[in-house]
Amino acid sequence: MTARILVVDDIPANVKLLEARLMAEYFDVLTASNGRDALDICDRTQVDVILLDIMMPDMDGFEVCERLKSNPRTADIPVVMVTALDQPSDRVRGLKAGADDFLTKPVNDLQLISRVKSLVRLKTLTDELRIRHYSTRQAGIDDMLRLQDGRLEEQAQVLLVDSRGASQERIIKALKPIAEVSAMSDPQAAVFEAAENGFDLVIVNCNLDDYDPLRLCSQIRSLERTRFIPILLITEQGDEQMIIRALDLGVNDYIVRPLDPNELVARALTQVRRKRYNDRLRHSVRQTIELAVTDGLTGLHNRRYLDTHLRTLFARAKVRGRPLTICITDIDRFKQVNDVYGHDAGDEVLKEFAGRIRSTVRGADLACRFGGEEFVVVMPDTPAEVAATVAERLRGMIEARPFQLRSGETPLMLTASMGIATLVPGVDTPEQLLKQADRALYEAKNSGRNRVVAAAA
Ligand SMILES: [Mg+2]
Repeated sequence: MTARILVVDDIPANVKLLEARLMAEYFDVLTASNGRDALDICDRTQVDVILLDIMMPDMDGFEVCERLKSNPRTADIPVVMVTALDQPSDRVRGLKAGADDFLTKPVNDLQLISRVKSLVRLKTLTDELRIRHYSTRQAGIDDMLRLQDGRLEEQAQVLLVDSRGASQERIIKALKPIAEVSAMSDPQAAVFEAAENGFDLVIVNCNLDDYDPLRLCSQIRSLERTRFIPILLITEQGDEQMIIRALDLGVNDYIVRPLDPNELVARALTQVRRKRYNDRLRHSVRQTIELAVTDGLTGLHNRRYLDTHLRTLFARAKVRGRPLTICITDIDRFKQVNDVYGHDAGDEVLKEFAGRIRSTVRGADLACRFGGEEFVVVMPDTPAEVAATVAERLRGMIEARPFQLRSGETPLMLTASMGIATLVPGVDTPEQLLKQADRALYEAKNSGRNRVVAAAA
């Protein structure tokens, strides 16, 4: 995972220490020795996570954090407060200023790396949603501010999994001002409950009898219906290895006992806000995509969406030095289907073809109808070899199963040809990349159809 981390501290030795540890993990590290420089850097460049010292002359970490979070351009960058003061009141103040996490000096290596990695993952998800939001809507700044609005219009719905009655009661009481809490002591029943009802947050207490709390967390993460629900883990002091594993599993945050009610409220609020923000983005993305940028026949994205979104993905891949591959595919001898069976049959084939593309591509891939019988799949973060495997799988799925027409005609045996091209140095525009893939497709057609051809790098 490569990402750009900004380290902010007024003491050069502290900066050096964190920089060295992060660079050892191949992160790209920027540094600043004061709040102003930090804000400047965030405004100018793409930063994925900020490690922010609290005690600094002029502008302290709380103020830097507040400013970052009130600027729509920088509000999504996760902030980790790094402080020598291990005071619950500071934590709460930091969380109120919008900080996403804390590290206490001297910073523990494993904790540092696992926290940064988990925040980078979260940031990647939010970025992706934001890009799609912008691609579809070209939203104005007002729109973003509205999405950013962190207030809770309604009580949060929290599911608490905790084996002890007394502990359940304490937590319910602490969260009362912000949340309606459903408490359960049976972890298996809790998974069903989480899948059935739309919770904003699941809190898992590690005190479960005869049950591995991490198993519960991993089940929640893997179910389609619960995978976006944030999880907050309550752990014992000294459970460091467990925390690290939990964060690796995708647990969003943890809190160590004895519980400070304020900290619990603040951490719960942070997770709920983030979830609602992402929910709203996802919803808005879904709505606008459905209306404006969907191909009416196949339900895939249309050419217009592809043009906007590919430009953004292309720019991002360039800036970050990540791979990006596109695949253009075209149904072989499609004209004959129309000529022999009519255009309705042709439409049926296109729909079925689109359905097979949809079931073949991976989560982050973008599938579009390019026009006519041509389709494009954009594969972010995917090198050519992997993309070739995906394309080959799709080619096989087209060939393997005949296309059944509603009219009851003999099922049609069809094939498709595919051309793929990967972003390499020298390719400067999305149009060039598309042209290369198109050329590869042409070659696939010319050399006998029903095959995948990769553009020469
Ligand atoms: Mg300091």
